[in-house]
Amino acid sequence: MVKPVFEAPRLLANKVAIVGAGLAGTATAQVLSTAGIECHLFDPEPASGASGNAQGMLYVAPQIDPTPASRFWLQAFDLACEQYSKRPEFHASGLLCLAEDDAHETRLRRIYERLARSASDLAWVNADEASSIAQIPLLRSGLYWPKSGWMAVRNFVLRELEGVIRRAERVEQIVEVGEQVKVNQETFDLVILSNAYSAQAFLPVYLSPKPVRGQISRIKGPSPKAAACAEGYLTPADSEGWASFGASFVPNDADSDLRAEDDRFNQTLMTQLIGHELCGQAGLSRASIRCASPDYLPMVGALPNAEIWMDGLSKLRTDAKWKPARAMCAYRRVMVNIGHGSRGLTSTPLAARILLQQITGQPVPADDDIPSHVNPARFLVRALKRNQI
Ligand SMILES: Cc1cc2nc3c(=O)[nH]c(=O)nc-3n(C[C@H](O)[C@H](O)[C@H](O)COP(=O)(O)OP(=O)(O)OC[C@H]3O[C@@H](n4cnc5c(N)ncnc54)[C@H](O)[C@@H]3O)c2cc1C
Repeated sequence: MVKPVFEAPRLLANKVAIVGAGLAGTATAQVLSTAGIECHLFDPEPASGASGNAQGMLYVAPQIDPTPASRFWLQAFDLACEQYSKRPEFHASGLLCLAEDDAHETRLRRIYERLARSASDLAWVNADEASSIAQIPLLRSGLYWPKSGWMAVRNFVLRELEGVIRRAERVEQIVEVGEQVKVNQETFDLVILSNAYSAQAFLPVYLSPKPVRGQISRIKGPSPKAAACAEGYLTPADSEGWASFGASFVPNDADSDLRAEDDRFNQTLMTQLIGHELCGQAGLSRASIRCASPDYLPMVGALPNAEIWMDGLSKLRTDAKWKPARAMCAYRRVMVNIGHGSRGLTSTPLAARILLQQITGQPVPADDDIPSHVNPARFLVRALKRNQI
């Protein structure tokens, strides 16, 4: 067996501060609180970030080979489907992931064959079958995930969280004092940064999530009965008849002003999916910022104690293949749960379970190695190997 460079943290805690009440923060608060941990969820304006969209689809895009990233997203998707099926904000309309072009169709077909899931989980549909499921004309073949669907995201994050103490405060200061942390001067056993790109203010240099601006358009009118996507996506209508489509994708842009050019982009994106443009209702679009990590896997877990790690792993600077005699295990009392990119609905339930495991030792409903692939320490190790810190 290959020796690991680092081990998972284990940080007992009774009282935890969670910064940010979007999908990541609320999932974490609910899971930890259910396990008996006192959770204080700080956010002056919950659902004001990317999780404030009216609708979002539960998306999954596995790869042909079972890479760690592909396994993470698929296992996260299965957990999310199971958990959301109990929530009134979730609509299990099914999800059609259709091909963007011929090469993509071939790839999707191979993924379908490789996954070999039962028909109640995944089906291959041609354009006619997809159109019949969606009850609107769709142009291409692809994957049909019957258990997926769309979430009323904003309502979901604003729901009451049993046992969680909501604090309408902005976290301005985090100071680590021995085995505890002061958050805005109040003492906690642990702090969990779930405030997406805004976490940057509290992050070490080797962690550098990127902002990716996105705008979603809204329309009242004919909409599919199942969520449908190719490069862009179109949701079924909500209870008031509004459907959402988009979404623009502008890397390294952290402005959430509304832009006509983004609406035009969304408008033309629909051509590939339904064969014609859709014109969103003026003034009802919403722009916000995704927080993306460099390897498109979220950053979930305790931050390593950089001083100890840089000392213990200094040989990596000259030999990237070197392994320490003993795996590194010194962690701070600051955890992160960020970098959920364009798929926070999918990743945040599993991310919350990974954090729970690091605090209580409860097993994660995923392959044993999955937590290590999202551990933020991977970026410290990478930076050392590249001599960047
Ligand atoms: C246009 C668009 C469309 C999308 N569509 C989908 C989709 O269909 N399906 C999907 O799965 N994902 C989708 N996403 C991505 C998804 O919205 C995100 O992955 C998810 O919302 C991220 O959640 P979060 O909790 O990490 O961050 P956020 O929702 O951004 O929450 C961060 C919170 O932190 C708070 N905060 C910031 N600083 C502080 C502080 N100092 N103290 C206290 N609180 C603070 C903010 O007020 C905010 O509420 C989309 C994103 C965009 C932009």
